[in-house]
Amino acid sequence: MGRTSNPYRWLETSLATIHRAHWHRSVSPISTLPGPVVTLAGQAVINFASNDYLGLAGDPRLAEAAIAAVQTYGAGSTGSRLLSGHRPLHRELEQSIANLKQTEDAIVFSSGYLANLGAIATVVGPKDLILADQYNHSSLKAGAKLSGATVIDYRHSDLTALHYYLTTQRSHHRRCLIVTDSVFSMDGDCCPLVEILDLADHFEAMVLVDEAHATGVFGPQGAGLVEHLGCSQRSLIQVGTLSKALGSLGGYVAGSAALIDFLRNRAASWIYTTGLSPADTAAALRAIQIVMAEPERRQRLWQNIHYLRHQLQQQLQRGSGWRSLPSDSPILCLEVADATTVMAIGQALRQQGLFVSAVRPPTVPTSRLRITLMATHKQQHLDHLVTGLSGGLLSSLHLATSPE
Ligand SMILES: *Cc1c(COP(=O)(O)O)cnc(C)c1O
Repeated sequence: MGRTSNPYRWLETSLATIHRAHWHRSVSPISTLPGPVVTLAGQAVINFASNDYLGLAGDPRLAEAAIAAVQTYGAGSTGSRLLSGHRPLHRELEQSIANLKQTEDAIVFSSGYLANLGAIATVVGPKDLILADQYNHSSLKAGAKLSGATVIDYRHSDLTALHYYLTTQRSHHRRCLIVTDSVFSMDGDCCPLVEILDLADHFEAMVLVDEAHATGVFGPQGAGLVEHLGCSQRSLIQVGTLSKALGSLGGYVAGSAALIDFLRNRAASWIYTTGLSPADTAAALRAIQIVMAEPERRQRLWQNIHYLRHQLQQQLQRGSGWRSLPSDSPILCLEVADATTVMAIGQALRQQGLFVSAVRPPTVPTSRLRITLMATHKQQHLDHLVTGLSGGLLSSLHLATSPE
C-alpha cells in the first residue's frame, strides 16, 4: 500500500511558522555553578536571568545536604509517596514549610507546576467557578482547564472586574475559587491580595495564591507576600515552588490540615507521580532553614532592587527611551516594541557580558526585557547593567522601534 501523506509533516510547517514570527526558542548551556556571574555558552556573563533570588542554588550548604541525603537514601525515591516513595525527609520538609508559612500543614509535590495542577483540579470541578487573573502563570491556567470548572479570566489585578464576576456569576455555581499569582512572574508586580481576600469572604469563595516568586523574598521571615501583608492567619490555599529563592526543585501547597489531608487523598499529580528525590528534598529543607536564619540575604536583595530601580529611573529621566512595567519585586521588565527588537537587544547585551531574558509572545502579550536580581549581585554588576542599557547601540535599536 502506497502512502500518500506523512502524518508528521505538519511539524515542519508549524516550525516554519514559529520561525517566521520570530518565536522560535532554543537552549543555551550554563557550565558553571549558579550565581551572579556564570559561563553561558562559553562566555562569562553577569546573570540577570535567574530566579535564584537569594543566591542559594549554588550555596555549598545545600550541596552538602543533598550529598548526605543521596548517601543515606540513594538517588531516587523509587515510588509514589503513598507507596515506597516516602522518606522522613519529606515529612520534615513539609513541616518546615508549614512552620515558615504559619499554616497547619503543607504537602510537597515534585514541582510547582504539578502542585498547581493538583491543588486546583482537586478543590474545584465541573460544577464550580474559577475566577483567574489574566496574567496568571501557565501552571495555574493549566490547572484551571484540567479541573473542568467554568473559568473566567478577569483583567489583570482589576478588583472591579473581579467584583462584577462574583456578583453576576458566583450564585450559579457550587464552589468558587479565585486564582492569582502573588508576584506576577513575567511582570514583577503584586496582586491586591488583601482586597481579593475580602471579596472572597463576602462571596464565600476560596482563594489560591501562587507564591512562586514571593517565597524567600517577601515578609519578615521570608514566607512570602501573604506574610508581608499580614494575611498568614486568613483561610487560603498557598502554592509555591522550591525551585526559585529556595534554590532546589519541587513545589508545595500550604494551608489547613483538612486541605492538605484532602490533597493527599485526591490530588492526582501527587498520588500518581514519584516522590521528590532525596537530594532535592534535603536541599530545600536546608534552604528554608537558611531563609529563616539569615534575613540579611533578603535585606541585600531588597537593597539591590532599590538601587537598580533608582539608577534606571535616572536613566529613564534622561530620555534613554526605556519604559519599565510597574514592579514591586526582584523582577523588573523594560518594554520593547516587538519580538525581533527584543531578541536583538538581548543579543547586544549578551555581547557586553550581560545575560538578560528577552521575553516575547506567546509567553507574554508584549515583548520585554526581564531583569531579575539576586542578593549576591554586587553594586558593580548593577552598574554594568545600567551602563549597558544606556549604550548608544541599544538606545538606537530601541528608539528606532518604540512608539512615542
Ligand atoms: C516557576 C513558576 C511555577 C512552577 O514552578 P516549578 O517548580 O518550576 O514547576 C509556578 N508558578 C509560578 C508563578 C512560577 O513562576
